[in-house]
Amino acid sequence: MKKKVEQYDVVIIGGGAAGLTAGIYCGRARLKTLLIEKSLVGGLATYTNEIENYPGFPDGATGLELMNLFHKQAKKFDVRFKLTDVKSVRLEGETKIVETFRTIYETKAVIVAGGGKPRLTGAKGEEDYLYDKGISFCATCDAAANTGKTVMVVGSGDAAIEEGMFLTKFADKVIVSVLHDEGRMDCNEIAKSEALANPKMEFIWNTVVDEFTGEGRLEEVILRNLKTDALLPVKVDACFLFIGYIPNTEIFKDILNMNNSGYLITNEKMETNIEGVFAAGDVRDKFLKQVATAVGDGAIAGYGAEKYIAESETFHNQIMQDDMPGLVFVWNAVDPKCRDLMPIIEKYEAENQGKVRVIKVDIYKSAGIANRLGVFEAPCVAMIKDGKVFKIIKDRICEDEIIAAIE
Ligand SMILES: Cc1cc2nc3c(=O)[nH]c(=O)nc-3n(C[C@H](O)[C@H](O)[C@H](O)COP(=O)(O)OP(=O)(O)OC[C@H]3O[C@@H](n4cnc5c(N)ncnc54)[C@H](O)[C@@H]3O)c2cc1C
Repeated sequence: MKKKVEQYDVVIIGGGAAGLTAGIYCGRARLKTLLIEKSLVGGLATYTNEIENYPGFPDGATGLELMNLFHKQAKKFDVRFKLTDVKSVRLEGETKIVETFRTIYETKAVIVAGGGKPRLTGAKGEEDYLYDKGISFCATCDAAANTGKTVMVVGSGDAAIEEGMFLTKFADKVIVSVLHDEGRMDCNEIAKSEALANPKMEFIWNTVVDEFTGEGRLEEVILRNLKTDALLPVKVDACFLFIGYIPNTEIFKDILNMNNSGYLITNEKMETNIEGVFAAGDVRDKFLKQVATAVGDGAIAGYGAEKYIAESETFHNQIMQDDMPGLVFVWNAVDPKCRDLMPIIEKYEAENQGKVRVIKVDIYKSAGIANRLGVFEAPCVAMIKDGKVFKIIKDRICEDEIIAAIE
């Protein structure tokens, strides 16, 4: 099958809070923007029943409600959406390739916002009961189906305990398997005391899952006591796993820098190790993985992509033109030494109109263009001929030096 080829300014991989926010910023900057999502626009947050800590919603909102608003706003700014899985990428160079089953997307910038997926326990039988056979990762999705039943929650972090509390509204009993000693949990103190006081919640301490069993559907979770090694079979109708997430970064292996756990490493501008490729949200190695921080990341990545594209265009269409020699004055508007040199540059510009193209690049706003020229400090002058930098003057910037360089 011959694949279609389409061109965009920006391709965003992942339609969660981070990707949608990046989309809003890129769309609003009038960039031709495509967002590719493999399952559900809104991402992980749509699986959450109640989001109480996202600012602006004092009465809380369901994750789905919140994400629907993000989606609506991105569509308002003409972001295009494709529901498909990104299979591979080629990110080096000016034109980046993002490939799906049917289409090859050529793009100037890529924003990776693929988030993470739930971690499995690795216990025996697990693969046989995933999703509709009894092992779930989404209380919002599967709570109602467990009305009047007994369910297990594995984990004791914020997500486990808060979703476990939500499950008590439906299930008769919520059994929580906790790795730690009695009374020790990974969640915040408020959630912990509410959970411990909830009569529908029962805790089994110092345990991990050893095996999942059942005839076609999950019927029993066999827990193992970490201190005694004793096995404890527990009859359940469903089991909810909340033991963390692993990043969706397989397709970026050996392409983008990542930490030992596979989270992408960026700087504070959300830039990855490849120019024009940004990462945002839970897919990043970061301190706090929440909707509010995903939104912040997405905004920075969207803004960064816009700046990167604008700089690329200035660089190629103005600076690297080969019709006449060029002089790029790299300066910093807040540096008096740079400001003092401006009259020399402007005099030179006035005297050489039509012969030398003079461009001023203020690195206070962005160092991107200067860096492309191989310049990392200001003041500095880069001389350009035949579309190439042929001399960089940094120590003695004066008219004589410039004239000598041009000749
Ligand atoms: C149970 C639970 C409760 C939570 N409660 C809260 C809360 O109360 N408050 C709060 O602020 N946060 C909460 N969070 C965290 C919050 O949901 C995440 O921090 C947030 O969703 C991260 O957004 P994201 O856009 O980075 O990633 P995600 O929301 O994970 O979105 C990434 C998207 O990328 C898609 N994707 C991945 N790979 C590809 C690919 N190759 N091709 C195409 N698409 C791809 C995925 O399908 C996914 O939709 C909770 C999380 C969970 C699991």
